[in-house]
Amino acid sequence: MMASPDNSLLAGRRAVVTGAGRGIGRSIALALAHAGADVAVTARTTREIEMLAGEIARTGRLGVAVSCDVTDPQQVSAMAQQAQDKLGGVDILVNNAGNAASHKFIEHPDELWHRMLDTNLTSVYYVSKAFVPLFVEQRYGRIINIASTAARIGERYVAAYTAAKHGVLGLTRALAAELVPYNITVNAICPGYVDTPMTSASIDNIIERTGMSREAAREALEKVSPQHRLIEPQEIAAMVVYLAQDASKGITGQAINIDGGGVMS
Ligand code: NDP
Repeated sequence: MMASPDNSLLAGRRAVVTGAGRGIGRSIALALAHAGADVAVTARTTREIEMLAGEIARTGRLGVAVSCDVTDPQQVSAMAQQAQDKLGGVDILVNNAGNAASHKFIEHPDELWHRMLDTNLTSVYYVSKAFVPLFVEQRYGRIINIASTAARIGERYVAAYTAAKHGVLGLTRALAAELVPYNITVNAICPGYVDTPMTSASIDNIIERTGMSREAAREALEKVSPQHRLIEPQEIAAMVVYLAQDASKGITGQAINIDGGGVMS
C-alpha cells in the first residue's frame, strides 16, 4: 500500500506552476497541493487548468486557474498579479512551461529557433522577473526550473531546444548567485524522456519520419535511458516538492538529472 502524502510539508505555502495543464506541470501542481500548498496553475488552454484547479480544490487546498501565454510579458505581469491576489502571496515558482520541436540544422527555420528560445528560455526570464521582486521583499522564495537533459548534453536535430535549455541552466545559476542574500533558492531539474503528451508527440514524429511502429518508436525513446523506461511525471513532481521544502534550503544553483542514469554530471 502506498503511504499517503504528508500534507504538512508545505503547509501555508503558496505556489505558481506554469505549463500546468497537462504532463509534468499537472503532476507538479497536484503534488504541491497534496504536500499542503495552495497552487495557482497557468497555461494557455483554459479548460485544462480550470479542471486541474477543481482537482486541487478536492485535495482541500486552494486551486486557482490563471490563463497566460508565458512568451508574452504583459500576460505574464497580469498573471503574476492575479496569482498573488488570489493566493494572498506567492512563495514557490515552478517554471515548467515548455515545448520541444526538432529540425536538422541545415535549413533550420529561423521561426523555429525564435519559438524554441521564446517558449523555453525567455519565458523563464519573464516569469522569474515578475516574481523575484516579491521574493526579495519577503526574503523568501523557491524557484524551480524544469530544464532537460538537453541542458546538459548535445543531441542531433534539436539545436534550438538544446540551446534554450542550456540557457535555462545558465539563468538558474546566475539567479541563484544573485539571490543568495535574500533567502531565495533557484534550482533546475533535468529530466530524460518523461511519459507525457509532449513525448507522445515525439513518438508520432518518429513514426511519421521513419515508418516505425508505435511500439518500436516508444522503445527507441525508452532505450535512451539505461533503465530502459520513460520517467513518470510523478518522479519529477516529487523532486519539486523536495526542493520547495525548508529541508532543501542548502541546495541552490544546482541541476538535478532525473533520467535513469543516462547523464552523470
Ligand atoms: P506537455 O507538452 O505535455 O505540456 C506542456 C505544458 O506547457 C502544457 O500545459 C502547455 O499548455 C504549456 N505551455 C506550452 N507553451 C506554453 C506557453 N507559451 N505559455 C503557457 N503555457 C505553455 O510537456 P511536458 O509536460 O512533457 O513538459 C513540461 C516541461 O518539461 C517542458 O519545459 C519540457 O521542455 C520539459 N521536459 C520534458 C521532457 C519530456 O520528455 N516530456 C523531458 C525533459 C524536459 P498550453 O499549450 O495550453 O499553453
